Amino acid sequence: MFERKKRTRTCSHERSDLFDSLPDDIVISILCKLSSSSRSPSDFITIFLTCKRLNQLGLNPLVLSKAGSETFAIRAKNWSENSHRFLKQCVVAGNIEASYTLGMIRFYCLQNRGSGASLMAKAAIRSHAPSLYSLAVIQFNGSGGSKTDKDLRAGVALCARAAYLGHVDALRELGHCLQDGYGARKNVTQGRRLLIQANAREFASSLRAAAPPSLHHLVTWQLQNHQQRNRPLTGNNNRSPDSGCPLLSDFGCNLPSREVHPANRFLAEWFGARESDPGLRMCSHSGCGRPETRRNEFRRCSACGTVNYCSRGCQAQDWKVRHKLECTPMAMDQWVEAVDGEDQDGGGDRIAEVEGGVGGASE
Ligand SMILES: [Zn+2]
Ligand SMILES: [Zn+2]
Repeated sequence: MFERKKRTRTCSHERSDLFDSLPDDIVISILCKLSSSSRSPSDFITIFLTCKRLNQLGLNPLVLSKAGSETFAIRAKNWSENSHRFLKQCVVAGNIEASYTLGMIRFYCLQNRGSGASLMAKAAIRSHAPSLYSLAVIQFNGSGGSKTDKDLRAGVALCARAAYLGHVDALRELGHCLQDGYGARKNVTQGRRLLIQANAREFASSLRAAAPPSLHHLVTWQLQNHQQRNRPLTGNNNRSPDSGCPLLSDFGCNLPSREVHPANRFLAEWFGARESDPGLRMCSHSGCGRPETRRNEFRRCSACGTVNYCSRGCQAQDWKVRHKLECTPMAMDQWVEAVDGEDQDGGGDRIAEVEGGVGGASE
């Protein structure tokens, strides 16, 4: 008995020696792997709680610079000075995901517009597509300023860069801009081509995300989609936004909803839990979380006028996932009243066309 105890003690003693004898650069490279593959902030934070050495090495700039977007998936209710400081440390270490996340939080939640936009610009310069696209949304809407601060050409340029890097919403926005001659010279054919490309990219990324991508599953999706289409749209037959969506119903496939970026999840949670100015609306797309920064900043659905969007990317997503099942066209006299009401606030020009018209979602 005594001997066994002694042996156990010796083993644990040897283990701790082995760890202590590992050179710092090996431990740092292991921590880099860990921080880049963390699936939640707690995965990473536990490093600091383990021991004094890991606490020090975990804060090494190399480790912080490698942390992935899910490391910054902080819950809005847990936001504190410490989480702010941690994000700042990661920004200083050169982490572009941290720059983007803190930029979005500062711009929209903390209303520190200048510093938020410059953090996003820092990531955008290093070709971070979500940052480029978010800056484009800010330019198109003149967010944080007045209507006259909109810069459509800058929005198009930022969108073009993000689209080039494969950002689907940016590609879609750019397609619409060319199609309508909005911030760019009108080119309907090129615009339509980009919209088809956006759909094709979305289709491909959804297929990659859905495992296993076998023909059998495709057939099952097609059958399910066909059955759902033929059901009357009443009561429980309405699809919820989270139940998988016919994002590319045009292709006959029912695909799971897109992954929402942690920064958008933070925004949605932050504004969902707070009383905001009743005149300022949230983007109606549940995966966005952007609020208006002034009255009537966002576009409204041109058919029902009951939903608002920060961008056409959000409008297209929400239309296909949810809104096409709910959109009820408003009577003409209600429209005149609604538009007159908005004119008094100086926002009467913010009316967007529903993609493909009511009951259709063709692009
Ligand atoms: Zn939005
Ligand atoms: Zn509508």
